[in-house]
Amino acid sequence: MVVTRFAPSPNGLLHLGHAFSAIIAHDLAKERGGRFLLRIEDIDGARSRPELADSFRRDLEWLGLEWEEVPAQSTRLESYHRAAEDLLERGLLYRCTCTRKEIAALEPNVGPDGLVYPGTCKGKAFDPSRKPALRLDVDKALQEVGEIVWEDEIAGALAADPRPFGDVVLVRKDEPASYHLAATLDDAADGITLVTRGADLFAASHIHRVLQALLDLPVPTWHHHPLLIDESGEKLAKRKDSPSLADRREAGEDGLLLAEQLRLHRFPSGISLAKP
Ligand code: GLU
Repeated sequence: MVVTRFAPSPNGLLHLGHAFSAIIAHDLAKERGGRFLLRIEDIDGARSRPELADSFRRDLEWLGLEWEEVPAQSTRLESYHRAAEDLLERGLLYRCTCTRKEIAALEPNVGPDGLVYPGTCKGKAFDPSRKPALRLDVDKALQEVGEIVWEDEIAGALAADPRPFGDVVLVRKDEPASYHLAATLDDAADGITLVTRGADLFAASHIHRVLQALLDLPVPTWHHHPLLIDESGEKLAKRKDSPSLADRREAGEDGLLLAEQLRLHRFPSGISLAKP
């Protein structure tokens, strides 16, 4: 049975891009007689505002979606910890005490998710007076998993290659897990068979596929949909001043009608679908 999910982070109100994404995940599941899950990804430290989760639920209801909610990430810290310990013991993670500023000063390459860590701490004793993050040793991970593929419903089959990201952080200094580790473990625990999300996270799936192989997790299919963009070609963001779903809902806009328009790709003026 197909199982999809919508996994918002409560660090800002949802906007039209989220509505579009949630509707796609919802409809892909319902059209195929499957289940659609909501998972609140609330381990973003100070940026996380748990009270927003209620607003998210009201937004989904307003759009006419039906979902089952699974436990929020903050209740799953033990599973992240166990997986990180396992990878650490197998020598697949290393401790890194570099600050963002120190990394930037090295003028490293820029990858799909910002600066690519140049591996400064790899193979070195770390300074115990500084709190470390745990990074994946990508070369070692690839040696262990060999050649593996992942399949996107739109893009087709791809060889997993997380190298453009460099040695990504799997456990942050201040948090029990990074997005990559938490989302990969949760998707497996929740029985997600079709990971549906925006194309901005397409490249991250290379990392997630490698983590699945390392941790012996079931392998889903992916569906990365094109993003909604504004007049300047930028993806819609929580930070920009376009009205949130909560604003629209509270102003009395018809959520069911909005959902129908989004399904038909009829977007409000100035908003369009990015070319794949
Ligand atoms: N929590 C992530 C976000 O709000 C989405 C993660 C995912 O869909 O994999 O951007």
